[in-house]
Amino acid sequence: MAQYDYDLFVIGGGSGGVRAARVAAALGKRVALAEEFRFGGTCVIRGCVPKKLYVYASQFPEHFEDAAGYGWTVGEAKFDWAALVANKEREISRLEAIYKRNVEGSGGETIHSRAVLVDSHTIRIEAENRTVTADQILIATGGRAAAHPALPGHEHCIYSNEVFDLAELPKAILIEGGGYIAVEFANIFHGLGVETTLVYRGKEILSRFDMDLRRTLHDTMVAKGIRILCPAVSEEVVKRADGRLDARLNTGEVLTVDQVMLAIGRTPNTENLGLEAAGVVMDRQGAIVVDRFSRTNVQNVWAVGDVTNRVQLTPVAIHEAMCFIETAFKNNPTEPDHDCVATAVFSQPEIGTVGLSEDEAAKRFKHLEIYRTSFRPMRHTLSGRQEKMLMKLVVDGDTRLVLGAHVLGPDAGEMAQLLGITLKAGLTKDDFDRTMAVHPTAAEELVTMYKPTYLVKEGVRIDG
Ligand SMILES: Cc1cc2nc3c(=O)[nH]c(=O)nc-3n(C[C@H](O)[C@H](O)[C@H](O)COP(=O)(O)OP(=O)(O)OC[C@H]3O[C@@H](n4cnc5c(N)ncnc54)[C@H](O)[C@@H]3O)c2cc1C
Repeated sequence: MAQYDYDLFVIGGGSGGVRAARVAAALGKRVALAEEFRFGGTCVIRGCVPKKLYVYASQFPEHFEDAAGYGWTVGEAKFDWAALVANKEREISRLEAIYKRNVEGSGGETIHSRAVLVDSHTIRIEAENRTVTADQILIATGGRAAAHPALPGHEHCIYSNEVFDLAELPKAILIEGGGYIAVEFANIFHGLGVETTLVYRGKEILSRFDMDLRRTLHDTMVAKGIRILCPAVSEEVVKRADGRLDARLNTGEVLTVDQVMLAIGRTPNTENLGLEAAGVVMDRQGAIVVDRFSRTNVQNVWAVGDVTNRVQLTPVAIHEAMCFIETAFKNNPTEPDHDCVATAVFSQPEIGTVGLSEDEAAKRFKHLEIYRTSFRPMRHTLSGRQEKMLMKLVVDGDTRLVLGAHVLGPDAGEMAQLLGITLKAGLTKDDFDRTMAVHPTAAEELVTMYKPTYLVKEGVRIDG
């Protein structure tokens, strides 16, 4: 191994790369990690973390409104976008420093530069115009918001990267897309008082989630005042003389807004990375093709996280990195487990979900029992807010195995984390029934739905 400068060279200092570099260094390996932008990657700098902070910011107006029912009189509230952006920046800078320090503290070297492959053992450090060699190479370069060059006027649009640092809060925004990033930002901007329109080409927002949740969230967002146009697409974005934007939709409608945000998917960061020179194979979307151990077709080159386009979530990138360490450095081949990944959408109300949707389960199982309840959460009784909470368990009628658990409402993401354990453990509806409720909570409904709301037999719903 000493013939190389490093035992492991990691390209990309995001969720997956930082974890792999830190743990390999702690094992005593000679490790270097190159990051071209900011350590922490998408999650810390322009993804999960700042997004969640903005979600919190956007929830205060409803909290202020709801307070009245609890006896509070709240004075005039004012929002300062610049203060939020500055405070967010302070927090992500703190995290960025921790990420970098953790790698260095474990004995790894951090390099602030773009890195590209020269061949399967050689990496060019672009900022320093030098090359280094490594025995093993891990590519963890993540992804970025997909561009939309076919849209005339796309150069006037912003993506999730820019949205966090806008010079000023727009008065009106159009968000194009129906995935979780589009939906979350529609709720954030609406909560901050921005006139918000979500335009999505599909029939219903949030494909792949349970249809009940999708429809109920859609209706709730509309009731709050968010316009959702689907199916619809923008066909042209024109900059006006006053600096605002006219977005012309395929429906003929023209929307005048201050910003158009495109959130139409993610593209793996594989361009100009030297993959061809190293002989690493990509798929048609440009994602790196890996085997079940995250190894590419080149024996000593591995890839984890969003760049492999498996499940694009931070905990998954970290898990893949940990499995890579086991396989490459601990002589313990370990496959990442992508089954039953619990996830949240930080919409308002929030979604927490794990396992199969009803539609997906109906394709795979002959007999389903669906347990479903919809109710006003206790916190809304005095506030007067009409929003409903929705909970749903999808159960295999033959084995009683809980196949899917879906929640829409306050703290749904927190519930999904715990529901994830139950589904991963392969618990049955009987286990749920045997579990004592925690009272008074919303989550107690998950263990007190004793009778199926309806059955699904051979794909056909049977009520009563
Ligand atoms: C707006 C938004 C919200 C999100 N919210 C959530 C959420 O709530 N929950 C969740 O689980 N996931 C969320 N995600 C997804 C999550 O951020 C990603 O799944 C995760 O960051 C992937 O980690 P990664 O290590 O694969 O890549 P990344 O974190 O993207 O890191 C890749 C790093 O590589 C660097 N890089 C790229 N090319 C090079 C090169 N040639 N040389 C050097 N450095 C390079 C990049 O600058 C980047 O820092 C969100 C994403 C976005 C965009």
